[in-house]
Amino acid sequence: MNGVLGVAIDAPLRRLFDYLPPPQVDPAQLQPGTRLWVPFGRRRTVGVLVERRADSELPIAKLKAAAGLIDEQPVLDAVLLELLKWSADYYRHPIGEVIAAALPSALRAGAGALAAEERWTLSAAARTGAAAPLGNRANRLRELADFLTTREAAGAAELTLLSPRWRDHVRELERRGWLVKLQMDVSGLPFAAGTTHVRVPGPPLTDAQQIAVDAIVARSDGFASLLLHGVTGSGKTEVYLRAIEACVTGGRQALVLVPEIALTPQLVERFAARFDAPLAVLHSGLTDQERLRAWRAARSGEAPVVIGTRSAIFAPLANPGLIIVDEEHDASYKQQEGFRYSARDLAIVRAQRHGVPVVLGSATPSLESLERTRAGRATLLELPNRTAGAQSPSLHIIDLRRHAATQGIATPVLLTVQRHLAAGGQVLLYLNRRGYAPTLFCPACGWSAPCPRCDARLTVHQREHALHCHHCGTQQAIPALCPACGSEVKPVGQGTERIEETLSQLLPDVPIARIDRDAMRRKGVLEETLSRVRSGAARILIGTQMLTKGHHFPDVSLVVVLNADQGLFGTDFRAAERLAQTIVQVAGRAGRAERAGEVLIQSEYPEHPLLTQLVSGGYDAFAEAALQERRAADWPPFSRVAVLRAEAMRRELPLAFLDEARALAEDHAIPGVELLGPAVAPMERKAGHFRAQLLLQAATHVPLQRLFNRWLGQIEVLPAARKVRWSLDVDPLELF
Ligand code: ADP
Ligand code: ZN
Ligand code: ZN
Repeated sequence: MNGVLGVAIDAPLRRLFDYLPPPQVDPAQLQPGTRLWVPFGRRRTVGVLVERRADSELPIAKLKAAAGLIDEQPVLDAVLLELLKWSADYYRHPIGEVIAAALPSALRAGAGALAAEERWTLSAAARTGAAAPLGNRANRLRELADFLTTREAAGAAELTLLSPRWRDHVRELERRGWLVKLQMDVSGLPFAAGTTHVRVPGPPLTDAQQIAVDAIVARSDGFASLLLHGVTGSGKTEVYLRAIEACVTGGRQALVLVPEIALTPQLVERFAARFDAPLAVLHSGLTDQERLRAWRAARSGEAPVVIGTRSAIFAPLANPGLIIVDEEHDASYKQQEGFRYSARDLAIVRAQRHGVPVVLGSATPSLESLERTRAGRATLLELPNRTAGAQSPSLHIIDLRRHAATQGIATPVLLTVQRHLAAGGQVLLYLNRRGYAPTLFCPACGWSAPCPRCDARLTVHQREHALHCHHCGTQQAIPALCPACGSEVKPVGQGTERIEETLSQLLPDVPIARIDRDAMRRKGVLEETLSRVRSGAARILIGTQMLTKGHHFPDVSLVVVLNADQGLFGTDFRAAERLAQTIVQVAGRAGRAERAGEVLIQSEYPEHPLLTQLVSGGYDAFAEAALQERRAADWPPFSRVAVLRAEAMRRELPLAFLDEARALAEDHAIPGVELLGPAVAPMERKAGHFRAQLLLQAATHVPLQRLFNRWLGQIEVLPAARKVRWSLDVDPLELF
């Protein structure tokens, strides 16, 4: 008799809370995954039943009873609940918060999981004439009752048409025993197997696309992991669409994950145009009600295609058949705070548990995913060419040391820009640095404007006449003179704002558009600017990272990477991978249509192997070399790492905590676990907090998890832990 309920509650505690079953509830209804109202402290809250147990660590007499059952059917099916338990365990995050991350907030507040609507129907007494007569003057009431004799039931939408005061009438009729209130399930029906639900057929596939689609469809009856590596514009999305068609025709649902920034109206439009069935779209911009509606459509099976960003990996599916992760290398799949999960990695775990194929797609696959294909754990599908005559761009490095430059733009680059503009092309310049200049400098004494709260310099924002810290948000006025010596100060280096200024001086008649977070702050400006670029009204496009994802610029014939060097000597073991992905992704914006694109990369280190490999052998050659380096250095994917981070207002506290944590870990002496550090962050102080970390490394995650099992409970109760903010990041994307 499993009379104790282990309940997950949205609270930062790594445990379940024990309750007794609510009174007057059939124990058979208490299935894992159902929600309960439970007393918690002085309030009542929503909990999710995770498991039933025979016993509790607390005396049974001390346990409180749950106040009531919310769901008749579990809101989390068995696979999803297992996935969430696994995630909580693997990422070492409190199960209550993990489950909360998977549920729309309306459900966390107790809203119904089914799309139910209040309806009213005539009572049996009224139908048989046994109800008390309404009386002579009750015309309104009679009208409403007559209306209901013509149908089974009616809801607010119909009843408002009868009378604006229908609620009063309904209440009165209920009181007199004429009406009965019902909660009717109004969610749509699951879509049917056997029909394609395809509105418009896609173009005939290329051979490479056909091979990829066939390979995915052939695996549809069980778990399979596939990596679709296709250059930008090679037709990956078309492959997804065809594989989804096959899945949907078989009566099963497809879950499609896309990076935050790529979930544009255009993308949703492309899916909606193809499928003659509702789409469930899940992203962070939804209202609670919209999110609930999409969640319900996914869960009931009404929506054959569920498309969303990171957290959509936890969307419920009535009948899953396929999972797709587009742009799988994208950093937005890893949550960087709180519950630090990777939706990309969980997609593989989830597909395994459902027994369905998972397709990861990218023009620049992560080294992790490439290594999986080499190790035989995933199948590689390649789309080596662009579709429909579009040619791949050619890459060239411009040696910044050999050429004169005007504000960061080398003379040969400027000439090439002019040539492309004269030929009617558009030009895209990429610089991963917003603002006017990264430094405000005093040539007389060497002072440069520091952030008071970070170990960083302030960025000059000329248009706003302000200095901004890009790490903590601090803003200051630009000083007229050097605060140290009273001399003139000047902005040094370039940001996108300055590049825009320089180009408008050099090419005064050419319309320019700038796309970065500063320029796009106002709602709607991004769409406006993008349409100005698409229509050809803007000829030069300057932008940051924002440009590298999701957007297609068919008339761009020249792409310039203004400064490749920021990523060349990064301290993070993923710095090179990130730089290569960025360059290839930016380059992919050029020459989408009939024009062959040209790509120029400015660098002071033109012989750097990373750049020469990219230029001569493309992303594949880079990845090959980078994987060898990772293997030699024992970094992921050839090992697993986790970081214990700590920060505090006082410099010595994080290190003191991490020293103690390290000593505890050493005591456990788990074979195969290496401890590195603690070390302070390269930028130690950020927003007034001093930061440090301890790195843990092992050949696989097994010894790390063994250590966590014993170690985390000890760390939690260290007195030093209470003086810092600490967190554990398993499979971190960035080391600091
Ligand atoms: P990716 O997702 O790899 O960037 P898309 O699927 O968006 O590529 O395809 C790029 C362009 O080529 C789109 O305009 C798409 O409509 C078109 N396209 C894709 N496949 C084909 C095909 N087989 N024949 C003709 N055009 C295609
Ligand atoms: Zn000075
Ligand atoms: Zn700062």
